[in-house]
Amino acid sequence: MGDWIYLIVGIAVLGVAALAGLVTSGRRRRIEPPRGGTDVITPPPADGDVEAPVEETPAVVVPEGPTAPATPTLERPEGTASRLVRLRQRLAGSQGGLGRGLLALLSRDRLDEDTWESIEDTLLTADIGVAPTQQLVERLRTRLRVDGASAADARTVLREELLELVDPTMDRRLQVSGEDGRPGVVLVVGVNGAGKTTTVGKIARILVAEDRTVVLGAADTFRAAAVEQLATWGERVGVEVVRGPEGTDPASVAFEAVKQGTERGVDTVIVDTAGRLQNKAGLMDELGKVKRVIEKQAPVTEVLLVLDATTGQNGMIQARVFSEIVNVTGIVLTKLDGSAKGGIVVAVQRELGVPVKLVGLGEGADDLAPFDAGAFVDALLG
Ligand code: GDP
Repeated sequence: MGDWIYLIVGIAVLGVAALAGLVTSGRRRRIEPPRGGTDVITPPPADGDVEAPVEETPAVVVPEGPTAPATPTLERPEGTASRLVRLRQRLAGSQGGLGRGLLALLSRDRLDEDTWESIEDTLLTADIGVAPTQQLVERLRTRLRVDGASAADARTVLREELLELVDPTMDRRLQVSGEDGRPGVVLVVGVNGAGKTTTVGKIARILVAEDRTVVLGAADTFRAAAVEQLATWGERVGVEVVRGPEGTDPASVAFEAVKQGTERGVDTVIVDTAGRLQNKAGLMDELGKVKRVIEKQAPVTEVLLVLDATTGQNGMIQARVFSEIVNVTGIVLTKLDGSAKGGIVVAVQRELGVPVKLVGLGEGADDLAPFDAGAFVDALLG
């Protein structure tokens, strides 16, 4: 009998020990460090579902050891692949109303004249412009003639027609490379307040994320704040900013920036410019001179016009004025996060015959993304 008790107690002790082992090994397993490092960029999910976990950025590069030099800590900007995925929800948030409104109208039991008029109004309110609106309504009328088209049909047709208007065939690549050992030169123009300086800083980050070397030219010399602002953008990612004292001739700063960029053998020089629109002749002289002096050293490979998407028709007027002054090769639409007027993408491309290449979707340092027609239309449809 006594032996039995010893045996039972022994088994019980062994059992408890085994259980404790399992628990601790489980715990140990849980605190194992994640494999594969921390700076993995989440690839865009195939179906564009934004619920995928979003990688936080930017990762900070920590200097080595306690005796690290006193240089500012450099940020590592977010790679381009994950940007639009991360920002798509923001785009859908501000633009989704347009697509949802249209879909609701198109899925009505009867597509009568009143409904078509409402569809037209919805498109005009989103700043798509008169001609594209008429074209779209005409196409939708033809394709959805049958009363009571199913919601799925309406969505498919609307997606196809919107995509056609936004034009997925346009070449939206930024021309940031030069030839014959010279840097690519990106000239950034637009009215004050459009988000020009911010965009220059954000583009620099995109290029740095792609391991390109960059020099910035702070040629908006009329505003000390713009120069300071750009200097800060540059410092954050270790990009040199060429600047002059307040009031310096913008052309001389642009010249110096391209000269330094060439001497250093960098890939791209981005030049910020002043955007005072009070006087078109003055602006024309100024931008013309900036371009001429730059081209004494290297051709300008890209002229980006920065437009604030919230300014509607005013933005269109600016687009016209600037396209008369300089040969705009790409459009950056900023503040799309705060505007339900995404239709301006269509209007401005039509007006200038130039693609929207980048979209600004927030005030964060990496809230600028390459424009993608399909992702944009999907965001419109919510
Ligand atoms: P600039 O005068 O054209 O150089 O304009 P700034 O670069 O100084 O920008 C003007 C303001 O617009 C700043 O407060 C920026 O943070 C803001 N801004 C620029 N781009 C965007 C954007 O895409 N979204 C939002 N919400 N704000 C932006």
